[in-house]
Amino acid sequence: MPTNRTFTMIKPDAVQDGNSGAIIKMIEEAGFRIVALKKTQLTPANAGAFYAVHSERPFYNDLCQYMSSGAIVPMILEKENAVADFRTLIGATNPANADERTIRKLFAKSIEQNAIHGSDSDENAQIEGNFFFAQTEQF
Ligand code: ATP
Ligand code: MG
Repeated sequence: MPTNRTFTMIKPDAVQDGNSGAIIKMIEEAGFRIVALKKTQLTPANAGAFYAVHSERPFYNDLCQYMSSGAIVPMILEKENAVADFRTLIGATNPANADERTIRKLFAKSIEQNAIHGSDSDENAQIEGNFFFAQTEQF
């Protein structure tokens, strides 16, 4: 399993606001190489499957609704120490707690509409990347 890759998606609020380009620029400037990228939209069922780990949480239905409400930009990224370094780049889940100059501090609206996803482990990065991209789409 590659340990130098992570998975991300720019969430519907940030895509809708026209912030995809600025966010991708920050990602590349932080040293991540884009392995795969596309623009797509989740169905509520697919959003539910992606966030199945949160199915018992009180915010789960809202989260599935929000994540399927508009286009998203999923990406596979490569960099040494990718998972941890990317979580640092995006900042805390709640933008009110995010460090200055993180993606969420700059672009997130709320704890739910927080602009971007980042995988939390190498194992989940691989599962989540494969959820969106075939091997033949990864460069
Ligand atoms: P992500 O997995 O999207 O990168 P995260 O790992 O920082 O975010 P998680 O705890 O995995 O945070 O939550 C997944 C997503 O669910 C959050 O990014 C946010 O959109 C939403 N969420 C988390 N906590 C809450 C909450 N208390 N109220 C509403 N939405 C929430
Ligand atoms: Mg998470």
